Amino acid sequence: MAKLPSVPTGDDLPVVVIAGRPNVGKSTLFNRLVGRRQALVADTPGVTRDRKEAETVMRGRRVRLVDTAGLEEAAADTLYGRMRASSESAVAQADLVLFCIDTRAGITPADEHFAAWLRRQGRPVLLIANKAEGRQGAAAAMEAFALGLGTPLAISAEHGEGLSDLMGEIADRLPPQAPALVAGGMADAAFEDDDAEAGEADEDDRPVGPLRLAIVGRPNAGKSTLLNRLLGEERMITGPEPGLTRDSVTVLLHDEHGPIQLVDTAGLRRRGRIEESLEKMSVSATIEALKMAEVVVLTLDATLGVHEQDLQIARLIEREGRCCVLALNKWDAVEDRIATRQAISDRIETSLAQMRGIPVVSFSALTGAGVNKLLPVVRRAHATWNKRVPTGALNRWFEAMLERHSPPLVSGRRLKLRYMTQAKARPPTFILFGTRAEQLPEDYQRYLVNGLRETFDLPGTPIRLLLRGTK
Ligand code: GDP
Ligand code: GDP
Repeated sequence: MAKLPSVPTGDDLPVVVIAGRPNVGKSTLFNRLVGRRQALVADTPGVTRDRKEAETVMRGRRVRLVDTAGLEEAAADTLYGRMRASSESAVAQADLVLFCIDTRAGITPADEHFAAWLRRQGRPVLLIANKAEGRQGAAAAMEAFALGLGTPLAISAEHGEGLSDLMGEIADRLPPQAPALVAGGMADAAFEDDDAEAGEADEDDRPVGPLRLAIVGRPNAGKSTLLNRLLGEERMITGPEPGLTRDSVTVLLHDEHGPIQLVDTAGLRRRGRIEESLEKMSVSATIEALKMAEVVVLTLDATLGVHEQDLQIARLIEREGRCCVLALNKWDAVEDRIATRQAISDRIETSLAQMRGIPVVSFSALTGAGVNKLLPVVRRAHATWNKRVPTGALNRWFEAMLERHSPPLVSGRRLKLRYMTQAKARPPTFILFGTRAEQLPEDYQRYLVNGLRETFDLPGTPIRLLLRGTK
């Protein structure tokens, strides 16, 4: 049996491993992500390939990318044995595994076998549905939910579709950054490729996977009623989703923009049946749902106004970096609608300054009146959360902000703030560089965050501002 190669760990770069059965497109993806300018290890057809690896950049983060393709030829007897042997050592050292399947071939027994094995390894996995070019591909990719490895990300490595999102998803899953961040000049490798085809992967392409939505709120706010209302009016697909909570189900809705996956609906049903303490409901179950969601609908019983507990849930949403839509349910039972809406908005604006501009929708889940306003608002919130501000515009704005109010003195010396860049979206996250920038007082940080929110139209989403001191 061939010797298993091991991943060199001579540096501290996060390791991203591409895995999957033969022929799903691992090498093609590897080459795409590395881009042409990076030095590649020899890849001679017909000869047993060594594991390929290369250093590359994803959204400003340096990573070591490892391709396990071709190793299976060198090892063991059965297909499963070969796949496993070739991937074992790589996966063991991975900070993130990109598990690829071939969407056109569908889920094969080999994929299922490999997925089951991967789930037991306990490494973070991002499920990639490759060969999903075009609209049909994106729909077919959803089949891969059945693997129980979360939401499949549909891409086409060969055609360069979905790569921008993929890089964002990878960057989002990397371990927290060591401070030495290279600012400016270091673009994502795939975009440096001067090949015209690679240029198709454009920074603005939207995620092709379903939008992940959670409905949360205090008991009796009407969450189950809302869920049933949404399902009743939409085509519903349910099915067991192994790997998550045992009895959880996948519920997909469709609006004119594509699929929306409701997360943690089983938890929702359980909570409806069992009398759980408020504490438990608002903390454990809500956090669970938040982690899986992109957009969270915080449902209130509008006849009761805003409770401290509602605000606590909103703060959890902020803390988890999700975007929030506030749903005022039981609107049919509200007598003075104008006054109620005003009172609720005031309370939210004063108590949740860190999520200023949260979108608010009022409806009756019971009668259905107004429920059709919800999903369009959810879509807009999701777009805001995904937004990227161009660096040029950001720094023109930043200079104007500095002119209007110069940065404060800290221990008698003025801070020198140099420039800003958006590190990531989901939620929008900005890095501010400057001499002793990490000492920037909170009120000045708030001044900048509020300015970002207004100027670049980022209502309701958490905004992160990271401070990086430079010499
Ligand atoms: P590996 O064995 O997993 O590394 O797979 P390869 O990268 O060698 O790809 C296997 C085959 O799938 C090759 O013929 C590729 O050209 C093809 N392929 C890779 N990505 C795509 C894709 O996104 N769409 C289509 N249609 N074919 C692809
Ligand atoms: P959950 O605990 O948040 O899932 O709340 P439920 O969906 O079980 O609803 C709690 C109660 O509020 C039930 O008696 C519902 O019929 C009622 N309810 C839900 N939505 C509405 C609504 O829009 N208007 C009125 N008047 N009652 C509602």
